[in-house]
Amino acid sequence: MFDLNSILRENIRRVKPYSSARDDFSGEASVWIDANENPFNTGINRYPDPHQQEVKRLLAQIKGVDIENLFIGNGSDEIIDLLYRIVCEPSKSNAIILPPTYGMYAVSADINDVVVKKVYLNEDFSPNVEAILNAIDKETRIIFICSPNNPTGSIIPQDVIEKIAASFDGLVVVDEAYIDFAPEATVVGLIDRYPNIYVMQTLSKAWGMAGARLGIGIGSTAIQSVMAKVKAPYNVNILSQQVAVNTLGDVEGFRLKLQTILEEREWLQKELSTIDVVQKVYPSDANFLLVRFIDFHSVFRYLVDNGIVARDRSKEKWCEGCIRLTIGTPDENLFLLETLRTYKMQ
Ligand SMILES: *Cc1c(COP(=O)(O)O)cnc(C)c1O
Repeated sequence: MFDLNSILRENIRRVKPYSSARDDFSGEASVWIDANENPFNTGINRYPDPHQQEVKRLLAQIKGVDIENLFIGNGSDEIIDLLYRIVCEPSKSNAIILPPTYGMYAVSADINDVVVKKVYLNEDFSPNVEAILNAIDKETRIIFICSPNNPTGSIIPQDVIEKIAASFDGLVVVDEAYIDFAPEATVVGLIDRYPNIYVMQTLSKAWGMAGARLGIGIGSTAIQSVMAKVKAPYNVNILSQQVAVNTLGDVEGFRLKLQTILEEREWLQKELSTIDVVQKVYPSDANFLLVRFIDFHSVFRYLVDNGIVARDRSKEKWCEGCIRLTIGTPDENLFLLETLRTYKMQ
């Protein structure tokens, strides 16, 4: 059965966390001369809350989880890095990823000197469960599952995630960066039953705060207390925390924009499939469409020449000739379609 202590790195287990200036104090005070800050108020002259309590209080309500099960990172990228650092022994441990998928799992593994084992999705983008289970060895510490997956837009079914979690005594990290576009697919409800499942979400996509760098980790209190002691004390700056509190307070504004993106996705999907040069539009549970083009190279160049920057995914497994198109504003989507309609086949 899963035992976090048995996979934590020895040095991490021993780390005594830095105790920040305000950790030892709770109550009312009028003079703060404990942290060598500049006393003149500019709104940012004080260090931020190292535990991001206000942000977490709102997130806990929105996500329906306890505050103690939340971690906030400087983007999901920080969370991925921290997960590697707490359980992976450099040049020894390995992680399993399921390409075609998000590139940061492999980049962050390389930075941390962790071996990456690739178990490709099937051609229909379903997971090859047997191959995943067969790839696990005694040095495997993390399996990354992205759902809805980038760049395929497909969901990994909950029963598959449960099966993997039940058969593995390392961390199963489920990256739900796009979950707001398919909320029924979340596996957050599994973290109590499977203490090795760690869910990542983000405020970068549906919540519209990519520039503020706010990633969310949802998992057991045991994992979160290790994450908390390994992170930089002030990993989320005060401006980002303020923006998060303001934006998370406007759930109605969030819903309206989300609804527009979902409607535009349905419409764009339908319209794209009527265009000559489009060979296939994959179904998507995210805020992008993976589209296969005839004449891929010249279509891509044609888009760039018209000021449209999309993501070339053509070199990814099963994605030959594919471009990933993010759903834009209604005007941007219309412009994209008009541009593609005027393309002349070579
Ligand atoms: C966009 C994206 C993220 C978000 O990363 P942040 O660092 O939180 O902005 C995470 N995972 C996947 C798969 C993504 O596509």
